[in-house]
Order: sequence, then structure tokens, then C-alpha cells
Amino acid sequence: VNTRVPLIAGNWKMNLDHLQAIAFVQKLAWSLKDAGHDFTSTEVAVFPPFTDLRSVQTLVTADKLPLAYGGQDVSTQESGAYTGEISAAFLAALECQYVLIGHSERRTLHNETDEVVAAKVTAALKHNLVPIICVGETAADLELHGPSAVPVAQLKAALAGVENAADIVVAYEPVWAIGSGQAATPDQAEQVAAQLRLTLAEVLGQDVADKTRILYGGSVKGVNIAGFMKEPNVDGALVGGASLDITEFSSIVRFQK
Ligand code: PEP
Repeated sequence: VNTRVPLIAGNWKMNLDHLQAIAFVQKLAWSLKDAGHDFTSTEVAVFPPFTDLRSVQTLVTADKLPLAYGGQDVSTQESGAYTGEISAAFLAALECQYVLIGHSERRTLHNETDEVVAAKVTAALKHNLVPIICVGETAADLELHGPSAVPVAQLKAALAGVENAADIVVAYEPVWAIGSGQAATPDQAEQVAAQLRLTLAEVLGQDVADKTRILYGGSVKGVNIAGFMKEPNVDGALVGGASLDITEFSSIVRFQK
């Protein structure tokens, strides 16, 4: 039996300052509540820039909003002379539940290696943050190695320091589908998600594999979400562009309707 609660996560990237974030989160929560969204049947999380997190925490706490939130990245280090970095302890102190790790933009623009990603996963888990481990192949990888080789290798590397019972989420995001308007097909997403679940079983055991949510990301919109959610190994979505539009994001969250 699949007991995995679907998760729809919005990665804002470098958009919305803390004032815009408060207005956005308030509107989003009300729009979902008005539509009768059951937050226990599909979980919703937002990933604002670091400078917004304190404001989002204050609002979510004060208004008891049923939204989760987290950072878009985290340092490998505990504390100290790491100018510009944000520690897992800081995110935990702001009551973040999740943190994105190894997003393709971090891997590409900031040269994050598999080793760095693994160290970030370990740092997050140490502070009880649930890492959303992002993996995915480029168009060139796809041509050279087929669809699942690179995502599977990235996941194995990211799990290097993870213990068996760890609470994690995996996001499969083909790089060619991110921000391109060209999403994978549900069938393509399912094929890779199934391989990623096998990898989880191999490395962390069947129980963890069964309970771990695997998200699809890459040009998810209101019109294509239902197709992905029908797939047995896809348990939600990581949404970029469409997470910045309340109507669009709400329709993704309410994919069954
Ligand atoms: C992302 O960057 O995680 C993403 C999936 O972006 P988009 O939805 O815009 O393709």
C-alpha cells in the first residue's frame, strides 16, 4: 500500500523579497483554504530566498498556516569562517522542515559536485531537516547514457552518508525540462522514478524506499500535473516558474480536482 502523502513544493529561486513573500504566502494559503484544499491529503511547501525565511516563519506561526517551508540550499559546514553561507542549524532555528539540495542550478552555476551534495545532505539530516535531494540528467547525458544512469548515480553519491531510517525526499528534475516549457512525459518521469526507488531500496532498504517521496520537476503546470500524479512512483512535484503564480500553483496543488 502506498502511504506516501503527495508533496507539492514551490522553488521560488531568486524571486520575491520578504515583503512580497508575506503577501504571497498569505494569499496562497487563503486561496487554497477557500478552495477547500485538504492539506493533510497533499502537503504544500515553499522555498523562498534565505532573506525571506524569518518573515515567512513569523507569518506561518502567527496565522497557523498549514504550509511547510525551507531553504533553497544549505552549507556543508556547521559554523565559522564561511562568508555568505547559511548553516543547517540556522534553517532549523527558523523551523524549516525541508531544504533543497543539489538543485541543477547549484550544480551548474556553483559547481556543486556529488561530494558537496552528499555533505549537504549529511549536514541537513544532522539538524533534522528533510533534504529534498535534486537529481537529473542534461540533454547531453540523456543522449549519451539514457534516462536513468546519471540521476541514479547522483542519488547513490548523495546518499553516501545517510543512515537507514533517514527521512528524505528525492526530486527527479531532468535539466532539459527545467524552465524550458518542455516537461518530460509522465511515462519518462515514471521510468526514472522507478529506478530511483530501486536505488533507495538497494542503499537504504525496502522500508525507506517505500516511504520516501519521489517528486518530478521540470515545467510542471496546472495542465500537466495530473498526468504525473497518476504514476505509481511519482509522489509530487518540485515546481519552479509556476510556483510564482498563485492561481497556477494552486491548480497544481489541487491536481485531483
Ligand atoms: C526547478 O527549477 O526546480 C523547476 C522545476 O523549474 P520549472 O518548474 O520552472 O521548470
